[in-house]
Amino acid sequence: SPTAASSPAPDPTSPAPDTTPPARLRDLLSYLGEHRAVLGVVVVVSFLGAGLSLAQPLMVNRAIGSVGSGALDRSAVGLLVALVVAAGLVGAVQQYLLERTAEGVVLGARRRLLAKLLRLPVREYDVRRTGDLVSRVGSDTTLVRSALTGGLVDALGGSIVFVGAIVAMALLDLVLLGITLGVILVAVAAVVVASGRIQTLTKQSQEAVGRVAAGVERALSGLRTVRASGATEREGRRLEEDAQAAYVLGVRVARIGAILWPVSGLAVQGAFLAVLGVGGYRVAAGTLTVADLVTFILFLFMMLMPLGQGFSAVVTVRSALGALARIQEVLALPSEDDDEGDLDGVRAPVATVHAPAVELAGVSFSYGDEPVLRDVTLTVPRGSITAVVGPSGAGKTTLLALLERFYEPDAGVIRFEGADVRALPRAVLRSRIGYVEQDAPALAGSIRDNLLLAAPGADDAACRRALDAVNLLDRVDQHPAGLDAVLGDDGVGLSGGERQRLAIARALIGGAPLLLLDEPTASLDGRNEQAMREAIRSAAEQRTVLIVAHRLATVADADQIVVMEAGRVVATGTHAELLGTSPLYRELAEHQLLV
Ligand code: ADP
Ligand code: MG
Repeated sequence: SPTAASSPAPDPTSPAPDTTPPARLRDLLSYLGEHRAVLGVVVVVSFLGAGLSLAQPLMVNRAIGSVGSGALDRSAVGLLVALVVAAGLVGAVQQYLLERTAEGVVLGARRRLLAKLLRLPVREYDVRRTGDLVSRVGSDTTLVRSALTGGLVDALGGSIVFVGAIVAMALLDLVLLGITLGVILVAVAAVVVASGRIQTLTKQSQEAVGRVAAGVERALSGLRTVRASGATEREGRRLEEDAQAAYVLGVRVARIGAILWPVSGLAVQGAFLAVLGVGGYRVAAGTLTVADLVTFILFLFMMLMPLGQGFSAVVTVRSALGALARIQEVLALPSEDDDEGDLDGVRAPVATVHAPAVELAGVSFSYGDEPVLRDVTLTVPRGSITAVVGPSGAGKTTLLALLERFYEPDAGVIRFEGADVRALPRAVLRSRIGYVEQDAPALAGSIRDNLLLAAPGADDAACRRALDAVNLLDRVDQHPAGLDAVLGDDGVGLSGGERQRLAIARALIGGAPLLLLDEPTASLDGRNEQAMREAIRSAAEQRTVLIVAHRLATVADADQIVVMEAGRVVATGTHAELLGTSPLYRELAEHQLLV
């Protein structure tokens, strides 16, 4: 079609285009909000620590002053030692509390991200790479953490010392303070200019890390195909390009950081030398005492240390803001159930006893520009088996996805047991439907974990009945761990057909009144398919079954067959009727449907 031909295929590993505004310091601080209590303690402790540090030069002043008058002031020295020890202890408490808070912030961010990732509309996963999303939970939250411990944390105690030292210096000598601040201002200006660049670069570098994760996911999820295609080296090079990009950006950040250090070093040296020169001249002239000059210089260094910390805090905080933007981008996405606010507390409308299990009226839908379902109208009577057949790409899987409300129709109405599905909370609707998706996965975990997904309360007997119904009970009993046998390398390895049967057992055990099965017998051999048909038939005694099928034997069991082609329902009837009325069905029956 012209539309499909003119739009270039999107690069499968590139994340969605970046449209988020940069994160701000306020956003970072908002994560600290829920830790207000601990942070209050931290502030108190920081003041205490700063006080203990600031008192030290005063003791030095007293000691030096006493030496000048001939007798060392022992109590001043003793107090100095006590101050040093106490400051160390307070520092330890402060660091512990801050690190703990930072861990708490990371936990909070991860919780919000994980909750969001599980609730994103299915559509978001059509356009995003799982690997990139995963890297936001891992790597980006870690960067935010480092900003809190390495940056904001030190900055808090540091700024108290900084201000205290400046006050002390002002009391000691205003001229020397003026010189000091002048030199330092130059360094501060340089840091402010450089840090904006760091934030941008870090965001780009984290995006490259996200692309690496997405690429790893792509290569590992298709590992056998990649190896068998001899593409290991090429895939490796693809990944390496993104890893290289992250490296280059990281190096650029390092370069800016490296330039900042000598700048702040120069500020330290310059301020010290200027103070020493001017101060020495004034001591010689008799307008300043030696003790005051030494004390001033001690305060100078006391002030310069937090300044250096402040510079590096600016760097880490700017990096964190780059990473935070990626976290906020995900958190700002809609959740699937955002439209359910006014459904809060609404129970499922009481089922209308005589309404059909499912009705579609004039349903149209498209993923993009091309319509995939066109004016679909069909009725699934309660207690029936309805089969949907049609060439691949006809829209059969999409039809089931709309019933599950993974997507919303562009036009038309879908009713479940007489109720418009838009009036049902998704959770209620889904709890009433057992769904076996096409190529259904077995989830990591044990056989039991897989069965209990839809029915967390099911007991062993129920699990065994469901496994028996799909001919999987013997296979599970062969394993010493039985239901608790773990899927995967060390436990039970399931074939494609066994995975399919496990998925059907999972849907059966839920006991939902409607079963949606998407080509459930695709990879079953004749014997197992026979067992499956019996399982489906017996399941249908208590419920409604809507089954997408491509095997004549399965289809022939159906009470009603719906034939789809290119998004339309082209015929409905029984096998015998359709053989007479639908050329497409006749053709399918003669070819693909016959196995
Ligand atoms: P069937 O199950 O009958 O083989 P599907 O419902 O899977 O058909 O697909 C119908 C059409 O919709 C196909 O053309 C397919 O390419 C397209 N399609 C299916 N899923 C998506 C999706 N997630 N995003 C975009 N297009 C899709
Ligand atoms: Mg399909």
